[in-house]
Amino acid sequence: MSRNPYYDVLFDSVQIGPVTAPNRFYQTPHATGMGNMKPNSSATLRGIKAEGGWGVVCTEYCSIHPSADDSPYTYLTLWDDEDAHQLSYTSEAIHAHGSLAGIELWHGGFHTNNRETREVTIGPMAGSTEYMQPGQVRAMEISDIKAFRKWHRDAAIRAMQANFDIVYVYAGHEYLPFQFLSPRFNQRSDEYGGSLINRSRLLREMIEDTLEAVGHRCAVAVRLAVDELQGDKGITSEYEGRKIIEYLGEMPDLWDIALGGGLGNDSCSSRFSPEAYQEKYAGFVKTVTSKPVVSVGRFTSPDTMVGQIKRGVQDFIGAARPSIADPFLPAKINQGREDEIRECIGCNICRSANNEGVPLRCTQNPTMGEEWRRGWHPDYIPTKHRESKLLVIGGGPAGLEVSLALGDRGYQVTLAEANDELGGRVVHESSLPGLQHWIRVRDYRRYLIGRMSNVDVYLQSELGAGDIEEFNADQIIIASGSEWRRDGVGTNVHRPVEVSDKAQILTPDDIFSGVELSGDVLIYDDEHYMMAGALAEKLLLAGHSVTYLSPAMMISSWTTMTDEQEFIQSRLISLGINTVFTQKISRIEAAKLITRCIYSEESFEHPFTNLIMITGRLPKADLYYQLEHLKPVRIGDCFVPSSIADAVYSGHKFAREYGEEVANIKPRRERALFQSVSLPLNSGARS
Ligand code: ADP
Ligand code: SF4
Repeated sequence: MSRNPYYDVLFDSVQIGPVTAPNRFYQTPHATGMGNMKPNSSATLRGIKAEGGWGVVCTEYCSIHPSADDSPYTYLTLWDDEDAHQLSYTSEAIHAHGSLAGIELWHGGFHTNNRETREVTIGPMAGSTEYMQPGQVRAMEISDIKAFRKWHRDAAIRAMQANFDIVYVYAGHEYLPFQFLSPRFNQRSDEYGGSLINRSRLLREMIEDTLEAVGHRCAVAVRLAVDELQGDKGITSEYEGRKIIEYLGEMPDLWDIALGGGLGNDSCSSRFSPEAYQEKYAGFVKTVTSKPVVSVGRFTSPDTMVGQIKRGVQDFIGAARPSIADPFLPAKINQGREDEIRECIGCNICRSANNEGVPLRCTQNPTMGEEWRRGWHPDYIPTKHRESKLLVIGGGPAGLEVSLALGDRGYQVTLAEANDELGGRVVHESSLPGLQHWIRVRDYRRYLIGRMSNVDVYLQSELGAGDIEEFNADQIIIASGSEWRRDGVGTNVHRPVEVSDKAQILTPDDIFSGVELSGDVLIYDDEHYMMAGALAEKLLLAGHSVTYLSPAMMISSWTTMTDEQEFIQSRLISLGINTVFTQKISRIEAAKLITRCIYSEESFEHPFTNLIMITGRLPKADLYYQLEHLKPVRIGDCFVPSSIADAVYSGHKFAREYGEEVANIKPRRERALFQSVSLPLNSGARS
């Protein structure tokens, strides 16, 4: 297949200062949860992005000095020459495919705790750190600013020695240089505070320093949060954000435009933002500077990308999440395979990996984070080991992924789905407010499976144990999903609670199967991911009075990991939700929920008209046990209920490993190596 000429513009080379990007696909810096402790995983991941056609591939945030220690989160370091040596493997992996390697130098200022290094936290002003904890921030004196500039300059030189082509000055996401820019954080009265010129002084000096140190060989990029989304209190793209670019516009070789005010604004989930959502803020930049501009916006549509270039919004197609969901997105467009793009659904499960300090995972791309550890490639899977006839029961995320991956391997696969459409839980979940893009999990797989002559799909085919036995498959794969519990067992309650025979309990399964509600609704959430909040939103929009009750202290508390929690709670408050926190279920009477304070024995009664329980889930595993003599396998929620990402991963893992000796499957591990050094232990006598 050949490339659609309409997309040719995306493959123009673009000059960035002293270096040239081979095309306009620009993987902007993004966290991987790997950092300096997982250099092999990290380098391999970036190499795969370059192999997939991203003309520029950047690292994640890279600390320039021990006073920028983001533990317990994972991050890169360029504190010394060993770090530079370590990072040279990443630039090499990127260069191997002809792409440019960018590195995001970083200092977090008061956004770090320095728990590991025990350095004092510094910032433009004395005050509290970003995190709620007892340690305070020391205001930087002029001598500290000088020292900081030297740290940055030294790190830039090390980045050049590590063969990076683009070196970042990072003034985004409320990190140190941005803290100096924003009047919210900088009320200094010296030459670094007050007027915008003064607040921009440090950024200007950093650009000058970096250009002077490495500008002859490396491009210098500035990542700027052009709007904090805080209105007049902060930097806005209409006023000060624009003025900064008017003032410094021609200095760096490239502008990477982002949003400030928390990472959740910049990598906003699809529930709260459409594709190209940052154009509103970044759109003006090219009218003010002649330098190349890049910005993100969850771009997955090649037509939208062409529009960005042709309308002069930006020179590159900036992407973090779309490059995670499909590292081969550019290659697919280049090869006329754009219909095969695995589109990001905007669920932000990738963000949760960084927030939990673990390697990157992705709902759409099960190979993400496994490139080095398991040797999984996002666009290639080994062919079958022998002929086998496989039967998959259930066409949800797990069943679809296993069918697709086994089909790709060349096996003969039959997929039976009880419903009249494929998708399982994503059909329901994507019907919730803002979650419509989640259906891409189904659509991507359904489309590719539909083209395979070796995968047969049967809808409206609820199979029983007898049907399955008759089919005589070499391997039965059960992906029949899960159901929500009705007995109160959830994160905070470990034994089934007493439930009156007369109590009418609803779960999300009832709502999705079409049960009509009238009157007030009480939602009890002891799951803590998105379901309770999203159902509450749906019911509020439908005109119900809704009370959200939970043992947690906030709505949908785990969504702090996907950077969505504040958005969810704000939206539900604006829709008039009632909330009751820190209570857990004790029993359910006819029309009354009895709860108990999680800190005391105090008991409460909550009369209800409709009660929806969102607690744990149980695997729908009857078939599995009925067929045990045929050695079926269970995957996805039917094995253990979890996220869609885990269901897809489970299906993919089974397909990759099918036919392998389990004993031979040993994921590689990154290890901290013992260094033999002489320690000054017991060197002095104690009196
Ligand atoms: P997962 O997330 O693990 O893929 P889902 O609940 O999304 O799980 O999907 C399970 C799918 O399995 C549903 O679409 C359901 O209709 C289907 N299913 C369950 N039992 C059977 C069965 N006996 N025969 C065919 N399909 C089934
Ligand atoms: Fe997109 Fe979700 Fe994958 Fe992140 S985890 S890249 S948001 S599909």
